Amino acid sequence: MDVVKTKVLVLGGGPAGYVCAIRAGQLGLETVLVDSGKLGGTCLNVGCIPSKALIHSAQVFSQTLALSEQNKLGIETQAPRIDLAQTVRWKNSLVAKLNSGVAGLLKKANVSVLSGTGVLEDGKSCVVRQQSGEIMVKSEHTVIATGSEPISLPGLGFGNRILSSSDALALTAVPNSMVVVGGGYIGLELGGAFARMGTRLTIVEASERLLPHYDEQLTDPVVKHFDALGSTVMTDAKVISGQSTDDGVALKVHQESTGETADIEADYALVTVGRKALLDGWGLDALELDVERGYVAIDESGLTSMTDVWAIGDVTGEPMLAHRAMAQGEMVADNIGGAKRIFDHVSIPEICFTQPEVVQVGRPYSIADEQDDAVIVRSFPFAANGRSMTMQESDGFVRVIAASDTKLVLGLQAVGGEVSELSAAFSLALEMGATLEDIAGTIHAHPTRSEAFQESALMALQRPLHL
Ligand code: NAD
Repeated sequence: MDVVKTKVLVLGGGPAGYVCAIRAGQLGLETVLVDSGKLGGTCLNVGCIPSKALIHSAQVFSQTLALSEQNKLGIETQAPRIDLAQTVRWKNSLVAKLNSGVAGLLKKANVSVLSGTGVLEDGKSCVVRQQSGEIMVKSEHTVIATGSEPISLPGLGFGNRILSSSDALALTAVPNSMVVVGGGYIGLELGGAFARMGTRLTIVEASERLLPHYDEQLTDPVVKHFDALGSTVMTDAKVISGQSTDDGVALKVHQESTGETADIEADYALVTVGRKALLDGWGLDALELDVERGYVAIDESGLTSMTDVWAIGDVTGEPMLAHRAMAQGEMVADNIGGAKRIFDHVSIPEICFTQPEVVQVGRPYSIADEQDDAVIVRSFPFAANGRSMTMQESDGFVRVIAASDTKLVLGLQAVGGEVSELSAAFSLALEMGATLEDIAGTIHAHPTRSEAFQESALMALQRPLHL
């Protein structure tokens, strides 16, 4: 078997792995990246990017559909249709463009990419099974970035009419009906897109609320949107059995609160009950790695329990977010290069790309905060923001949580159309240790929705201008 020696081996070419490899290459470290699939991992190929393309298409379609009825804007259109096969072709072309973009960036950073399955034999040896045969890569440092995979439910294994998120992104015709099992990030982002394209949606969520990760005030507008679309939302509910046939699914759903069991039939079931670290198929058994609660355990610097073996991204656990994975990847490359960086959790924005969008950064809100003298909590509604009115996006708000004594901003949240773009300002505020005065004293452009951010700080300082 041919042997290749390198300073850094990165196993997995998703956002964690490819960013780590690029940074390592930029630092002049000899780097080999191994991936069995297309570059960009779940995020680029079957996650963040394709789902946002589908969400965008669904949004434009539903807005156009709304304009085919009498509207305040005075716009007249014919009854629009959506050709999902074309949307999917467009989405695939974007993915392909970005795949080659990542390949180009790796090449520019002098990273060698091996296309094949890498299996570690120890912390410094990896057999790569390529189409052309096997090759051994010997490395001084190994970075595990193998990512995650969707969790399936017993009796509802993926295949046929039971869809994973990847399967749903490949549908070429809009289903008449769909049951989404798991009302979290993926279920509501993708389920919402299909509902806006005309699919009759039923959401089955085990918790008491949709998007239980966010507070109720943030998720209320999302729930209202699903109501407006005519979707059925079942919370506190679990699928107890399911059957997939050639032309649909039949599920039995038990609702804890009512004690009732309902039969639900649909064209498809989309199962989105979370993701788990990908621990199989890359040689974990051959290593002495600590695994905690199903994830490869790492310290603050990204180092595992083995010397010079690092881990980054989803395989290291929650939050399974591409931007956190990229930040870990960059940090670990720097550390291999001799830096002494540790991971800073102060600002990892969490965004759900539903309609409306939800964002939170830093300390999350709890209803108990309202009675807590140690913090100030204030919200500014988009209903009082001029630009929002002109965009017909008056639902939602921006909320700030700050320390009562120092006025240091602790947490920021928002719900509303396209508030994902506010996450940059929110993250910067937390990263820079902004106080309420810093935000209130920053001139925000008028007319923009970002003025609601400034106004929330002014409210917290008890001197609102526009409310
Ligand atoms: P999730 O954790 O967001 O949601 C899963 C939901 O399924 C939860 O609400 C949970 O209560 C529910 N659930 C669990 N078991 C159930 C059952 N038996 N029946 C009914 N409901 C059940 O997970 P996801 O949506 O699959 O997403 C996976 C990961 O991908 C997340 O960790 C997230 O970080 C990431 N992701 C992020 C984004 C984003 O940043 N916008 C988008 C998509 C995915």
